[in-house]
Amino acid sequence: MTPIDYINDNFDRIKEDYKELLAIPSISTDPAYAHDVLRAANWLAAKMREIGLMPELIAMPEGRHPVVMGTWDGAGPDAKTVLIYCHYDVQPASIEDGWHTEPFTPTEVGDRIYARGATDSKIHVMANLSAVEALLANGGCPVNIKLVFEGEEESGGETISALVDQHPERMRADICVISDGSILAPEQPSIIYGLRGIVTMELHIDGPQADLHSGHWGGAVHNPAQALAEIIAKLHNDDGSVAVPGFYDDVRALDDSEREAMRANTDWLAEEYGTLVNPPTEWGEPGYSIHERTGARPTLEINGISGGYTGAGFKTVLPSHAMAKISCRLVPDQDPEDIIRKVSGYIAQLTPPTVRSRITDLDYGRPALLLAREGSAIQAAAAAYETAWGKPVIFERAGGSVPIAYDLEKISQDMALLSFSYKGGGAHSINEHALVPMLYKGIITAITFLQAIAE
Ligand SMILES: [Zn+2]
Repeated sequence: MTPIDYINDNFDRIKEDYKELLAIPSISTDPAYAHDVLRAANWLAAKMREIGLMPELIAMPEGRHPVVMGTWDGAGPDAKTVLIYCHYDVQPASIEDGWHTEPFTPTEVGDRIYARGATDSKIHVMANLSAVEALLANGGCPVNIKLVFEGEEESGGETISALVDQHPERMRADICVISDGSILAPEQPSIIYGLRGIVTMELHIDGPQADLHSGHWGGAVHNPAQALAEIIAKLHNDDGSVAVPGFYDDVRALDDSEREAMRANTDWLAEEYGTLVNPPTEWGEPGYSIHERTGARPTLEINGISGGYTGAGFKTVLPSHAMAKISCRLVPDQDPEDIIRKVSGYIAQLTPPTVRSRITDLDYGRPALLLAREGSAIQAAAAAYETAWGKPVIFERAGGSVPIAYDLEKISQDMALLSFSYKGGGAHSINEHALVPMLYKGIITAITFLQAIAE
């Protein structure tokens, strides 16, 4: 029997297993569910043992939600080792949020399975686990396997960072696969080969020692809320580019071939921009497409502003303090420390003598990640998607940041991101669901990938 015949014969049972996993509320963000996270971890470990992997639960430090690691080295010391990362924890959910069905009672309607975690990210856990099962049950797997299922992706990821940091040899592999996220559309496979880096900070503006009566002192004191607005208004140029001196110094330029490749998803993006974003009019750095602006160019965003009185009614106050949260998305070859230095230096320069500015809560985040589209992992992934979906993939540079991808890329020789879900699946939202055909195609993609990467 081929592994794919095996999946055809066993798909109904795999679907039931998937529902069993979905029924466990492995909510990592709420301590009240800690024993359910552990229950999911034990469920996965039992499944791994059943299909022939050696499972282990690892929590670092003790007490965190465990990483479930399953290893198989039956392909021998000369074969490649592939590490596959997924996460089995989920966001909170309750029917009162507006769900049509109980979020932890998996409900199949047509070709959809509704449940919290269906799309983010238990479809990936199940697809990769089933692919390994099908290979091991039918003549063995052509590569050695390390399945790494994280239990706190939605809540900080301490254990996985500690593992990479303190035991890199355990996480080392020839090929690393991050299996999470979404493809462009249910019928259109895509591969993300770039992720932006991120740094975040808070900007505080302090003025008078306490909030003042705006009638008594207004006109004689520089209002910190106004000073904050004046400063952050100068962080961008009129054309939308970032005005921080030196901000673009290290940005790697796009060459013609990449710009050409990035145009392949223009229609998909235009549709999403129209339906999901729908601003009064388009905005952004001139000379760049939406895909380039969101995937290949760095940004500086004001994520929130506070200061003064914003409650009901009116309070004629002159606030003593105002604050803005600022984040920058980074691209190759920007260095997070250098960017923080430049942004905070420029803010210091813009701060008038009438107020004081402080930068706090600095988070150096991660630099950007850009994988070579010609790399063997991405090429094997592209071939695998084409086999499963019957359509060539579109390559994407995503605007978001996946810290673990950056960390694992440092210790493996080659990497690919494999997604089997779609953006309409309601991740972090109500009525989250997966499409059953995508679970099936995901398993076929994962099997074909592992076969292709062995060659
Ligand atoms: Zn998530």
